[in-house]
Amino acid sequence: ALIALYAIVRAPYQWRYRPRHKKARLFHVRESVLISFVTICWWGSSAVFIFSARLDFATLPLPGWLRMGGACIMLAGILYFWRVHHFLGSHWSPALELNELHTLVDTGPYMRIRHPMYTAIWISIIGQSILCANWVVAAAACGSFLLLCVFRIPDEERMLASELGQQYGDYIRRTGRILPRIRPPAE
Ligand code: SAH
Repeated sequence: ALIALYAIVRAPYQWRYRPRHKKARLFHVRESVLISFVTICWWGSSAVFIFSARLDFATLPLPGWLRMGGACIMLAGILYFWRVHHFLGSHWSPALELNELHTLVDTGPYMRIRHPMYTAIWISIIGQSILCANWVVAAAACGSFLLLCVFRIPDEERMLASELGQQYGDYIRRTGRILPRIRPPAE
């Protein structure tokens, strides 16, 4: 049900997304492969876990209250995911792309974090890992999303910096990638 909620939050943005109105698209094939890989690993392992007993060997002995805590963390991640989508609006794209008129979003969740959507997905995946209490599901979801972040974030930042110039450089100085910046930027 929580994965379905995640997909419902994403659906209107996916529906409105128009690939033809883009100025630039980077690493199209690599990004499609990475997104498919995360979807297969995360949602695929969850489906096997829910609908069969094949992953029972990887069960972790977590108490019920902790697993319910995991469900709450996952729900919180999805609600944050919703809020982030609201702020990014039409700048959202499944891969690395620039709109014809791409402007910097630096309000709401973007005020202190450069990639709050990935933060929201991390919160959801960690919550789900605790909820499922199964190390195969946790490793598949966390491992595949880590791979996506490692490949995508530096290229995404390079792309935005080349488009937005000094404005994005200043934005990098005052924000953190996945977590808010603790120390104030150096003068
Ligand atoms: N990495 C971001 C957004 C993911 S959606 C996050 O985690 O919140 C991917 C698209 O968002 C990219 O193609 C990029 O063009 C756009 N994007 C990322 N950060 C942006 C920002 N601060 N302002 C405007 N567009 C941004």
